[in-house]
Amino acid sequence: MKSSGRSGKRRSILAKRETGIDTRSRVVPHRPVLWRVGIGTDLHRLAEGRKLILGGIRIPFNKGPVGHSDGDVLAHAICDALLGAARLGDIGRHFPNTSPQWKNASSLLFLRRVRQWLDAAGYSIVNIDATVGLEQPKLAPHIAAMEKQVAAALALEPGQVSVKAKSGEGLDAVGRGEAIRADAVALIQACC
Ligand SMILES: [Zn+2]
Repeated sequence: MKSSGRSGKRRSILAKRETGIDTRSRVVPHRPVLWRVGIGTDLHRLAEGRKLILGGIRIPFNKGPVGHSDGDVLAHAICDALLGAARLGDIGRHFPNTSPQWKNASSLLFLRRVRQWLDAAGYSIVNIDATVGLEQPKLAPHIAAMEKQVAAALALEPGQVSVKAKSGEGLDAVGRGEAIRADAVALIQACC
């Protein structure tokens, strides 16, 4: 195994001398990148008297996220996953929490804007997978509605969006019922 590693290294050095291209690099020059993946996470503190909105769906509960906008962690994590996949920055840069424009804004608006920017950059969305961490209430009865709403905001088919829920098992801020979090990954494709 050692000798094949050495010969592979030698081949790559020779190829670099001849072509100027380092073949050990995982990125092959001149080949367009067709698929890109992005990750997004979000965490908000929970407080009594705030509305609990996830994926644009209002969920009855006595607590909700504290935030400048509607505090929709699911929408925020998905925005960041999509922006990251397209290397277009992050949600804080595009929708700063210091701007009065986004005060109490519906985060579905953020999703719609992000979709427009991806379109403009030449990307289509393949699929999104997300997990919401919340101790209470149980989200299972609302999952399908969230998937449908997020898909609609992004002009996708419902089958392209997956939402899952997890409790915090009594541990950390989520488990103690003090916070809500979401994690999302997105796969996008260059249109040409
Ligand atoms: Zn957020």
